[in-house]
Amino acid sequence: TNEVNWQAIREDFPILREQIHGKPLIYFDSAATSQKPCAVLGALQHYYEHDNANVHRGLHGLSTRATEAYEAARAKVAKYLNAPNVDEITFTRGTTESINLVANTWGVKFLREGDVILLTEMEHHSNLVPWQLLAERTGARLRFVPVQEDGTLALGALDSLLTPEVKLFAFTHISNSLGTINPVADLCSAARAVGAVSLVDAAQSAGHLPVDVQAMGCDFLALSGHKMCAPTGIGALYGRAELLEAMPPWHGGGEMILSVQFERSTFKKAPGKFEAGTPNIAGAVGLGAAIDYLENIGRAAIFEHDTKLATYAHRRLEELPGVRVLGPQERGGLVGFVMEAAHPHDLTTYADQYGLALRGGHHCTQPLMRKLGLPGTTRASFYFYNTMEEIDRMMEILENAVRFFA
Ligand code: PMP
Repeated sequence: TNEVNWQAIREDFPILREQIHGKPLIYFDSAATSQKPCAVLGALQHYYEHDNANVHRGLHGLSTRATEAYEAARAKVAKYLNAPNVDEITFTRGTTESINLVANTWGVKFLREGDVILLTEMEHHSNLVPWQLLAERTGARLRFVPVQEDGTLALGALDSLLTPEVKLFAFTHISNSLGTINPVADLCSAARAVGAVSLVDAAQSAGHLPVDVQAMGCDFLALSGHKMCAPTGIGALYGRAELLEAMPPWHGGGEMILSVQFERSTFKKAPGKFEAGTPNIAGAVGLGAAIDYLENIGRAAIFEHDTKLATYAHRRLEELPGVRVLGPQERGGLVGFVMEAAHPHDLTTYADQYGLALRGGHHCTQPLMRKLGLPGTTRASFYFYNTMEEIDRMMEILENAVRFFA
């Protein structure tokens, strides 16, 4: 992996040359959304200049081209996730929509009063609120795997939590506020052992490390394109064919039907039945280009680079007086921390004056923050286009902040 020229890779991202308040941008907010390389921007432009038409229903040449581009992107996602079958990939707007799709189709059809949905205390609101809504609708109950002091899951509690009433176990692969990497394959097999369906929230992992749905043994996996170099508004849901087949459609409209009568309709097989209306064709093409781009660098190399940055930032932050880092040593490419003297919003506003983009707040994990007794944290999140020098610069800014807020 030493052959990757990380400095040259920065040149692929025009936005990294921007200045903020007259200072060079240091973008440490990739966990919120990643930046986009020229390869992806070019693919969007190329699609609109050469292939743009609506998919599937036109019989003209351009429509065939658009359909081919859209379906080629689906095949790329399938290969990227090592899904056995391309029909197991449904395009969505992102992780949030993927999870809502499962809740509103599989969940509504199969959950009953008394059933249990098992989650963890570190879930993003998008892997919590859809299940709360579903529980309200079906009478199912929610249960949570506790997060321990060190930011890891209390795996010892799994045996007592995974009772036969558990019908679904949904959990994040990488925590967006703690950086914890969960042992997803173990969690999936624990779910399977009690006959529960597993769902992996791969929003923070899909662009950062190899994700293989067969090796994981998951039933569903949700991802967002915008966190892995693709445009906003496109994402995917992987679902095991058997499950997708048994699931009713969700949104109704064009594209998803076989035949429509005034009173009733019949629907396509998956994934068609879940993709009502004109899809985000250009977004899918962009996601395909992002996958090609990431695969060209190599996900193992990306992961190594990310964790090198995060481990270094973790160590340097711990040296700062009055600063506490959250989460375990072994982590994904992000570090959440609290500075005693400054509220996260004040600290991020301070950092912004120097061109440093951090994120402060609850990171859509309010229950976790409440449990930790924190109003929020400040988060620095990295991607392969970030450098050690940028972390050194962040530390200078934060050292000044410690003095400023003292
Ligand atoms: N899950 C996790 C772990 C996330 O970090 C995010 C985005 N912050 C989401 C889900 C939601 O993703 P999106 O907003 O792209 O749907």
